[in-house]
Amino acid sequence: MKLVFEKSRPGVSNIYLDRCDVPAYELDEKYLRKTEAALPEISENDLSRHYSELERRAYGVNNGFYPLGSCTMKYNPKINEAAASLEGFTQIHPLQPAETVKGCREVLDLTEKYLCEITGMDAMTLAPAAGAHGEFTGMMLIKRYHELRNDKKRTKVIVPDSSHGTNPATGTMNGMQVVSVPSTEDGYVDLEALKAAVNDETAGLMLTNPNTLGLFDRNIEEITRIVHEAGGLCYYDGANMNPIMGVVRPGDMGFDCIHLNLHKTFSTPHGGGGPGAGAVGCKEFLKEYLPYDEEYSEKSVGKVRGFHGNFLVVVRALAYILSLGKEGIPASAEMAVVNANYMKALLKDTYTMANEGYCMHEFVMTLEKEKKEYGFSALDIAKGLLDRGIHPPTMYFPLIVHEALMAEPTETESRETLEEASAQFIEVYQEALKDPASMHNKPELTPIGRPDEVTAARKPVLRYLPEE
Ligand SMILES: *Cc1c(COP(=O)(O)O)cnc(C)c1O
Repeated sequence: MKLVFEKSRPGVSNIYLDRCDVPAYELDEKYLRKTEAALPEISENDLSRHYSELERRAYGVNNGFYPLGSCTMKYNPKINEAAASLEGFTQIHPLQPAETVKGCREVLDLTEKYLCEITGMDAMTLAPAAGAHGEFTGMMLIKRYHELRNDKKRTKVIVPDSSHGTNPATGTMNGMQVVSVPSTEDGYVDLEALKAAVNDETAGLMLTNPNTLGLFDRNIEEITRIVHEAGGLCYYDGANMNPIMGVVRPGDMGFDCIHLNLHKTFSTPHGGGGPGAGAVGCKEFLKEYLPYDEEYSEKSVGKVRGFHGNFLVVVRALAYILSLGKEGIPASAEMAVVNANYMKALLKDTYTMANEGYCMHEFVMTLEKEKKEYGFSALDIAKGLLDRGIHPPTMYFPLIVHEALMAEPTETESRETLEEASAQFIEVYQEALKDPASMHNKPELTPIGRPDEVTAARKPVLRYLPEE
């Protein structure tokens, strides 16, 4: 496909506007550009086709199966989009007087209330712009709590090795020292190691649950008890709320603070780098440390983002919560778990699973043996799936599993889709087994083939440079 610049032909113009009939304002010389902007010259028709062609090349949930583990690429009902497009929500200004945007305030308040109910927390802020930003905010609350109690020794944060990579990063960014705790053989937090890790320097624990192996830690209450007894607080990475929402509540498991990814669980399209929201909830005793918007407490950690965060993401979340309702939310969580287990069952005779038994919303496969014995890797399988029109699972994550592929089908896929996709997963595996070397050139049918991973990472070319 040619770039729009390459389609440009001198002299092709589109005149949409009448000639200017008011005097032009003369800008100061220093503000004027010295050369013409290198804009493409292309007819409206060709431009329209250009963008339509680009659109066809993008792959999203609306095109097909997208089992990208840890990302919850579920189908986002269009009604949420319709709600977020209402003029009353889109045509407002953040500085407009509060009494003229009471409906928007109600959206924020209601969403906070429902999310508190879903998580078992007492207060919530919707300001953080993403999951990692939410974690950062949540850990600021915990840090501030210890600081204001003059408990200055508490600078260590415990992070199990099955946690999401953003958790240790959050601890470090907050100036804390990260203490890693290993998992047991079967993928749960090692309680003995946890007991040995906590002490009077423990600020808290950050736990991803279900963890990055797709497992719900069955010792969860014991974990929070151990940390609390040592005087630390418990932070719940709730980006993976999808399989538990409406079923169990982190607040009831003993957690003091949590973030949710509204752009994963609560139905905002993501993956293209669009706006998100990392809502942060906390228990009553941490409430006064929350970031402020209008009114604030002296103890607040301050502002983490301008105004009210990504407001339209919140509108979508509220529309989603209201349309699913009290019955729909747990039903959706249960279906996420059923779908993942169904797909796991379909694949387990072909792929080696990182963990036996039932999973939550996602499961992890390992191609460690295949790489050693036959010469094809997780990367080869993922690239092979691209040629079959399927978005690959997450690769090489979690780090504690070698040659990992992590699949999260989500609740919005039909049984037929799961069966068809699983058949493709099995076929690509058999293809690799027959001719491992051929897999190294995959994909062959996509616009871009197999880039040199090192060059792509070290010397990426992300910009079109016109020929001089
Ligand atoms: C996605 C994810 C995050 C980070 O969320 P972002 O919005 O990408 O910053 C954190 N923790 C877990 C478990 C996740 O899956």
